[in-house]
Amino acid sequence: MQDEQLQRKYIKAGHYAQQPERFTLLEIKLQMRSTHGTRLISYDGESWHCTCDFYRERGTCSHIMAAEQLLGPLAPAPTDHYPREESHDSER
Ligand SMILES: [Zn+2]
Repeated sequence: MQDEQLQRKYIKAGHYAQQPERFTLLEIKLQMRSTHGTRLISYDGESWHCTCDFYRERGTCSHIMAAEQLLGPLAPAPTDHYPREESHDSER
């Protein structure tokens, strides 16, 4: 990148990228090829949805969990469907 202006933007982007709290995920639509077929995963700003049977029964599923892992710090705050990282293997 030669352009000096662009270079400054690039540096600023690096700082922003370290502050995920500045970002709010508003909407997301994902198509995912799972073991049992193609799933449509979406997030509407409030909650996740998935087209699979497990989601219909339990309100979450492996597809949504995988999407959250992919999103990393951008993933929306967990809903109360699933306790996240609360179990710290006390039997170790
Ligand atoms: Zn699913």
